[in-house]
Amino acid sequence: MAKALCKWKKKEIEQDLHELAGIVDKPRYVCKDCARCAHSKGFLCKAIKLPINS
Ligand SMILES: [Zn+2]
Repeated sequence: MAKALCKWKKKEIEQDLHELAGIVDKPRYVCKDCARCAHSKGFLCKAIKLPINS
């Protein structure tokens, strides 16, 4: 199971920048706690679906 972006440390963000780029590409979900976004809800702690019509 992937680690939620909400839990990533600053260092991890820099180290895993390429993975992060894939996760936040074409976001379909947003975290209602911290407003991070991702294409899959597994990467967020409190995911809600973004109102996108595509
Ligand atoms: Zn969050």
